[in-house]
Amino acid sequence: MEEKVLTGKLYDIQGFSVQDGPGIRTTAFLKGCPLRCPWCHSPESQSYEDQLSWISMRCQGVDACDSRCIKACPKGAIELGGTRLDAKTMEELQIIHVNRDLCDNCGKCAEVCHPQALYICGKDYTVEELVQRLLQDRKFFKMGGGVTISGGECLTQPEFTYQVLKRLKEEGINTAVDTTGFCKWEIIERILPYTDLFLYDLKHMDSEKHKAVVAVPNEPILENARKIAAAGGKMQVRIPVIPMFNHDEENIRKTAEFCKELGDAVTVIQLLPYHNMGVSKYMRISDKPVAEATPPSDAYMQKLKGIMEEYGLPVTIH
Ligand code: SF4
Ligand code: SF4
Repeated sequence: MEEKVLTGKLYDIQGFSVQDGPGIRTTAFLKGCPLRCPWCHSPESQSYEDQLSWISMRCQGVDACDSRCIKACPKGAIELGGTRLDAKTMEELQIIHVNRDLCDNCGKCAEVCHPQALYICGKDYTVEELVQRLLQDRKFFKMGGGVTISGGECLTQPEFTYQVLKRLKEEGINTAVDTTGFCKWEIIERILPYTDLFLYDLKHMDSEKHKAVVAVPNEPILENARKIAAAGGKMQVRIPVIPMFNHDEENIRKTAEFCKELGDAVTVIQLLPYHNMGVSKYMRISDKPVAEATPPSDAYMQKLKGIMEEYGLPVTIH
């Protein structure tokens, strides 16, 4: 019988990243996440499946391409939508609308959409295919840079992530894992020897509030952070600062106390102010409205930074 080859599902690979760990890095984004953060800036990362995405600004209009996508769709899921103004000609273009209730993400429309206004988000790689793609960027891994495996939650594809990290270490590449920390400890324990740094999210110290907003409790996340620290792992703690959720002084102080408990396992704490860039991305994959909030001011972020620094912690705002 033919042996099944292990594959992982990705939704993106980005080079020259300076946001995903030290130095210049290439980041592999895996699909699928058990959390449902309303502020997620990569909503296409949440589903484990391939998804049809649609970027209205790329659509040339049905007249220019003879309604190719509408004709290609076996489900009748593409219909005439609104119009958009062409920035060059200032003409109104008749664009489309995808009826998500009818679409089964088969991708037939994406095959005929030449400007890639329609495209399938999700691509399968074998371990070696991904490693070889990442190694192409090796010459750019400067100032302590390397590869970051991110998501979604990359540890929901545990065997694939483990194998990729192991191969990268064999090649002498610096590795980071960007994780929510929401998984079984055994999964983290297995990748620890091949992970130079964890980019570790802490969202709220109150488990009930955590669960109410992002759909899972925080106990496994906090427990895994303690275990990483005890095992000698290093963590860059990331705190998304979300108005009306976790931005109050009480929660920030509790988070600082927790980070203090982790000792020198914490290399730095990043305070990440909420932004609403994810909203337009939601519209690529869904018709449902998304809640938006007002981003915290610079002065408020500085205040939170000051609070955490009172605990002797290294803090940055990004
Ligand atoms: S989505 Fe693509 S194929 Fe469909 S009308 Fe727009 S450009 Fe043409
Ligand atoms: S992905 Fe398939 S079902 Fe969905 S709109 Fe495109 S052709 Fe239709």
